[in-house]
Amino acid sequence: MIIQNLSVLEEEHICPDCNSKMACCEAPPVHVGDGLGWGSEVLFICLNDECPTFTNGWKKVEANYGHKATYRSMQLPGSTEQNVMMVGSQMAFTGSIIDPEAMREQNARYRKEKEAIAALDNCVENKDIDSVMTLVLDESARPAGRNRAILLLSKLNDLSCIDAIRNHTFRNTEFEQKCNMVITKLLKDNFKKECPYCAELIKTQANKCMHCKADL
Ligand SMILES: [Zn+2]
Ligand SMILES: [Zn+2]
Repeated sequence: MIIQNLSVLEEEHICPDCNSKMACCEAPPVHVGDGLGWGSEVLFICLNDECPTFTNGWKKVEANYGHKATYRSMQLPGSTEQNVMMVGSQMAFTGSIIDPEAMREQNARYRKEKEAIAALDNCVENKDIDSVMTLVLDESARPAGRNRAILLLSKLNDLSCIDAIRNHTFRNTEFEQKCNMVITKLLKDNFKKECPYCAELIKTQANKCMHCKADL
């Protein structure tokens, strides 16, 4: 989930019924009960199990609707107006608590990914290896963009990508294999090889490494 409006993560909401800090939770896609959306990506919900809204709600719902459920006190971002949400269990919403720090990081990463994808169209003319490498090395980037970036690596013909790839830990071995194939091609096209002792790039025909002086 990506929140468009990050400022909501800075908000602090205190439950008026129990004075505890309300949790920032991912909003359910529809307003439970009447099918309307909340018009918000997140909701602030009091998940305190001692909260009177929650503890007294079971009886109220039983009396009014005859089923087993209760309420959680809830507020919308930018508002202190008190609302309640019906919940069927104590666990409801505990799985959709948003960690603001993780969300901020994810958003920053997502923005970088989007910018890098947009830059791919002209990366060869612009010799823009950075945007391509952003995607190649981003383990959370979507596969389509990453695959495109890996293909563009050989067109860019920039040997500086080799070290970064060799030092990266790939979670997906398929991407790693594709990158290794690109490196093999780049080295061949540029008449280079990697020294087996120091990993520096040297001429294909060299018998002695110019960096570590090892005999090959
Ligand atoms: Zn409360
Ligand atoms: Zn060497």
